[in-house]
This record gives sequence, structure tokens and C-alpha cells, in this order.
Amino acid sequence: MKYSLPELPYGYGDLSPFLSEALLRIHHDGHHQKYVNQANSLLEKLEKARSDGTVLNMKCEPQALAFNVGGHIMHSLYWENMAPTSSGGGGTPGGRIGDVLDKEFGSYERFVKEFTETANAVESSGWAVLTFCMHTKRPLIIQIKDHHLFAVPDQRILLVMDVWEHAYYLDYRNEKARYTSGFWNVVNWGMVDQRLEKILDGDR
Ligand code: MN
Repeated sequence: MKYSLPELPYGYGDLSPFLSEALLRIHHDGHHQKYVNQANSLLEKLEKARSDGTVLNMKCEPQALAFNVGGHIMHSLYWENMAPTSSGGGGTPGGRIGDVLDKEFGSYERFVKEFTETANAVESSGWAVLTFCMHTKRPLIIQIKDHHLFAVPDQRILLVMDVWEHAYYLDYRNEKARYTSGFWNVVNWGMVDQRLEKILDGDR
């Protein structure tokens, strides 16, 4: 399975005058498509390397993958969280999201103010994002730099390894590779499996 460009859930001209048809075409067919293409070609490169044993630059490839997959996911969410006025776009939030935002921010207006100011304050490329923190069960407004989903809406983490120097230096000094290879002796696969089961069961 590969990444693919989703169709817009409305016509290219339907968000006008907020966004013109020309802009939406370039953004969707140009930019978003490019992230999809690059993510897929990176996957191909990784597959090829696995089959023929090529050594890859494992700093560049994973960074590029994070960037392009992130770009694809963020844009897919973006298209879906807009709608033409005639199809329900605009207005104030109702239902549970309305309750959640009211409870957290005090009012819809306050939420809009904070979110807008967050978007305005993004330096260079990035996103303003509302997330739901599963720890606190509260909504959060965050920024994302470029497309790097270091805080990941709608994705759960299965396994992590701390490679800050503080995680190994006292025991391994500068022999980081001994730390990273030894890590596999202590991975709790039972926990990794539990995390996966939760995701697959749709427990969110
Ligand atoms: Mn974009």
C-alpha cells in the first residue's frame, strides 16, 4: 500500500471567496501531490535498499520521510476540516466539540483568539493545530514546525528510544552504538503489542 492524494471533499472553486479555485488547484494538485510522490519514492528507495543491501543515509531518509508523510497527513486533515458555507462551513461549534472548547477556553471567541494568534505567531513554515491530549483529556493548541509531527494528532506512538546523551553517557560515554544495540535487550514487546492493540481496537 502506498500514499495517495485524496480528492477534495468539495469543488476547487467551492471555498471561494476565502480561497480561490486557482489557489486550491495549485495547493492540492501541486504541493500536496508532491508530498505524496516524495513519500512514495522514499518508500521505494527504502524497499530497494532492503532487497539489494544498499546502505542509505539514515539521517536524511527518515527526516525526508517525516517531512513528506507529515505534509501528506496534515494536508489531508486540512482539506477535510474546511467546507463551503453552503455545506455547513463557518458558524460556531456545537455538539461535544463545542462543549469541550467552552469548558477549556471559556468561550468560542476566546478559542478563536488563541488559535488565530497561534497561527499568526508561527515563524517560517508550520501549522497551528488543535489536539486532544489523551493524558489530560483536554484540548491543546500547538504549533508544528514544517510538517514535522513531533506532537502527533491522531497517531499513537508504539516504541521510543531516548538517544539524548543523558540517556546513555554515564554508562557508555561516547560509545552510543553500544547503547542503541543493547536497547533491544530491554524492549518490552508486550507493551508495544498492547499499544498496537489499543489502536487497532479504535480505543481513543
Ligand atoms: Mn500546504
